[in-house]
Amino acid sequence: MTATLIKGTEIREQILEEITAEVAQIKEQHGVVPGLVTILIGENPASISYVTLKIKTAHRVGFHEVQDSQPVDISEADLLALIEKYNNDDAINGILVQLPLPKHIDEKKVLNAIDPDKDVDGFHPVNVGRLMIGGDEVKFPPCTPAGIQEMIVRAGVETKGAEVVVVGRSNIVGKPIANMMLQKGVGANSTVTIVHTGTKDLAAHCKRADILIVAAGVPDLVKPEWIKEGACVIDVGVNRVGEKISEKTGKKIAILKGDVDFEAAKEIAGYITPVPGGVGPMTITMLMLNTLKSLKFKLGVA
Ligand code: NAP
Repeated sequence: MTATLIKGTEIREQILEEITAEVAQIKEQHGVVPGLVTILIGENPASISYVTLKIKTAHRVGFHEVQDSQPVDISEADLLALIEKYNNDDAINGILVQLPLPKHIDEKKVLNAIDPDKDVDGFHPVNVGRLMIGGDEVKFPPCTPAGIQEMIVRAGVETKGAEVVVVGRSNIVGKPIANMMLQKGVGANSTVTIVHTGTKDLAAHCKRADILIVAAGVPDLVKPEWIKEGACVIDVGVNRVGEKISEKTGKKIAILKGDVDFEAAKEIAGYITPVPGGVGPMTITMLMLNTLKSLKFKLGVA
């Protein structure tokens, strides 16, 4: 059996087109567009490239986008004041502080200073709590888990009553996706197990999964014999295992591998996400969706 590939690159294009159309409609009806500010501290090359991509995507879908770059030695107090400024800025619906922050700044304090109604990353404790309660309470599901759920739904995989096993219990992927899949609702209503380094028999748990979501950060952790025939396998892992020269640009690029032995797993699974090109492209896409939702909540049209 060869699994159906769930391609994040294709789903991203569909969703960005949907967002673009909705932004144009809101602009026509209400005379406003969603506003997203990305706050970048210092000149970390990886952070610059993430922020650039976020701003480029925001521009593409018709948002008002602001890139606010600050020096690496900005004080914590000045950064908190900057966040307060955007909390009070009517043209801004989403505030994103690019992580990691310099050592002298308390990351928790900064993230908690963002108005929960503009916290489009979904990391503020208020939004974490809303996600836990579920249903209408949820405003901004964190972007990577939201992208995972969207991929499962758009692939047409049945989630109701499915055995979902999540490998990893991080606050940004494992815990929130497990929480989302157990809620009573569309694209969820599953029976969920979370496994981690304290789990006794990882293989046995994975083998039971109708939907296996792997977010461990360990290349090829999941072996083909751990996968149930026909299962949906979502590989969140992005592991740099070497470097190669890009055929397109002639520049050195990282060789990326997921947490699942893809080549062997695709012969057993029913659905599988590739790395790269699977979950990765969904994160920024869902950030755009959350920013659009933020404006819709404000306008009372969500
Ligand atoms: P993390 O914070 O390091 O958490 C990893 C989790 O996996 C931990 O709960 C850990 O268990 C568990 N784990 C690690 N090794 C394991 C093993 N051998 N057996 C069982 N459990 C194991 O990582 P994360 O932030 O969730 O990210 C996970 C992966 O997803 C990384 O490769 C990351 O790059 C990728 N990622 C991709 C995206 C995207 O594509 N947009 C977004 C976020 C993350 P313990 O809790 O017991 O230590």
